[in-house]
Amino acid sequence: MKTIIEPFRIKAVEPIHLTTKSERNSFLIKAGFNLFQIPAQNVTIDLLTDSGTAALSNEQWAALMRADESYAGAASFYRFESAVRSIFGFRHVMPVHQGRAAERLLFQQMVRPGQIVPSNTHFDTTRANIECLGANALDLPCQAWRESDSNEHFAGNIDIEGLKQLLDSTDSGAVPMALLTVTNNACAGQPVSMQNIRETSKLLRRRQIPFFIDAARFAENAFLIQQREAAYADRSISSIVSEMFSYVDGCLMSCKKDGIANIGGFIAVNDDALADRIKEEMIVTEGFPTYGGLSGRELETIAVGLGEAIQEDYLRYRQAAAQFLHFGLRKIGVPVVCPPSLHAIYVDAAAMFPHIPASQLPGQALACELYREAGIRSCEIGTAMFGKTDHETGEQICAPKELVRLALPRRVYTQSHYEYVIEAFKNITKRRHLVQGLRFKAQAQKLRHFTAVFEPIESEIVSIFCQLDVEKYLTADLAYEI
Ligand SMILES: *Cc1c(COP(=O)(O)O)cnc(C)c1O
Repeated sequence: MKTIIEPFRIKAVEPIHLTTKSERNSFLIKAGFNLFQIPAQNVTIDLLTDSGTAALSNEQWAALMRADESYAGAASFYRFESAVRSIFGFRHVMPVHQGRAAERLLFQQMVRPGQIVPSNTHFDTTRANIECLGANALDLPCQAWRESDSNEHFAGNIDIEGLKQLLDSTDSGAVPMALLTVTNNACAGQPVSMQNIRETSKLLRRRQIPFFIDAARFAENAFLIQQREAAYADRSISSIVSEMFSYVDGCLMSCKKDGIANIGGFIAVNDDALADRIKEEMIVTEGFPTYGGLSGRELETIAVGLGEAIQEDYLRYRQAAAQFLHFGLRKIGVPVVCPPSLHAIYVDAAAMFPHIPASQLPGQALACELYREAGIRSCEIGTAMFGKTDHETGEQICAPKELVRLALPRRVYTQSHYEYVIEAFKNITKRRHLVQGLRFKAQAQKLRHFTAVFEPIESEIVSIFCQLDVEKYLTADLAYEI
């Protein structure tokens, strides 16, 4: 059979609360055109993030009942530890409440002010935790990513030449560690090849620099290695995962992604002394080392979820779902980042709305439009998130790309939900010349996109249309068909 089905039946359902367009219009205004401020109850399809939004399996629910909530040495911890050890192969496993706690604990032990931590691209919390220590988080994405080369199968790679130059041009001690993010979240979820991991490891080991992987989407990365790197076509996902992690000294993991859990994370390392130091520190902020801020139930969920995340039929379905949405959008002319990753589809809002300059936040405009049209919540990854306002001139310093991310929660939505998303895009595409840009009305100093208040910038043509009966004009299919 060619049809790839969801490899599960649905045993419990959660109703979706439906809203009307005019209700959504008023919710948008009330939220200051910021989708983080909209109560989830008023969202029809929530593609804000794939983090912590997964549906648990029957085996995970069963494991929840088996959970041991003892403070120290709970049976749940040992099951968790053994699952992590058997998949990743590290000696010491320290649970934490989520990925960013792992980052803070590890960097605190490894990184000093003024040092440089290179990566293929740091995730935003990873960068923030390094910068908090007064160190520099250096992104070295590969050339294919920088040049938007859609034929590159591993656009998430680190730039090996760039890394070499960095190591050759700095004193020993300037680079305390390096980190590869797999898949490369900030580069549209593009994967990292085994060859790239191996070469990075070789470079770093020669100089005895510790090398870690940010493993949030390790299973999706392993699956793409199996598909795209010839030497791995016949290898099992678990053997690919073992090899990936054999090249590094340890890993950090947000289990809210490929742990298929709603919360949790871990640090795994081989170095005994480093593990001791992390355990000592984690007691202060996370909890005793056998629970690290998680309940036994959460440790159990992760122990089972990690095993489910490396099942090939699950990964094949996950890819089929992403491809269904990706190709469905491409077919109707929506500009999407190619090739599709597994955890999200990225739409190029600047290309979709050429009449909205980056300073008027085309990505945020698209995200608002998707909500208004169909109650779909997405996430702007562009100037609203990564740009800055020059407070003297009021000008926007824009991000390199204006993307909107449609993240795919694990095992939550079916094909008809994605058909609904495609239809929403079709409707927006028809009247895309009428979509307005936005400006900041209020913003915080740090991570401004979470709490910012926006307002629409009304252009003359749009306000004329708004005074008319827009719906009537739109159904008349003006000149906006692409
Ligand atoms: C989500 C994520 C993190 C941070 O994890 P949290 O669990 O959200 O704290 C770190 N790195 C990557 C690549 C991520 O995707």
